[in-house]
Amino acid sequence: MAVWRCSLCGFEQENRCKPRKCPNCGGKDSFAKKEAEGEAKTNKKKAI
Ligand SMILES: [Zn+2]
Repeated sequence: MAVWRCSLCGFEQENRCKPRKCPNCGGKDSFAKKEAEGEAKTNKKKAI
């Protein structure tokens, strides 16, 4: 599952596919893919 972030308002949504419309600000095709949070957590555990 990928995390998508709206470049207009910063709204984040987990979805398989890229959301067409932002439910928060109504922006069209404003989502950009963000790195999965699960991977970041794994890296933190390794560092500790
Ligand atoms: Zn938005």
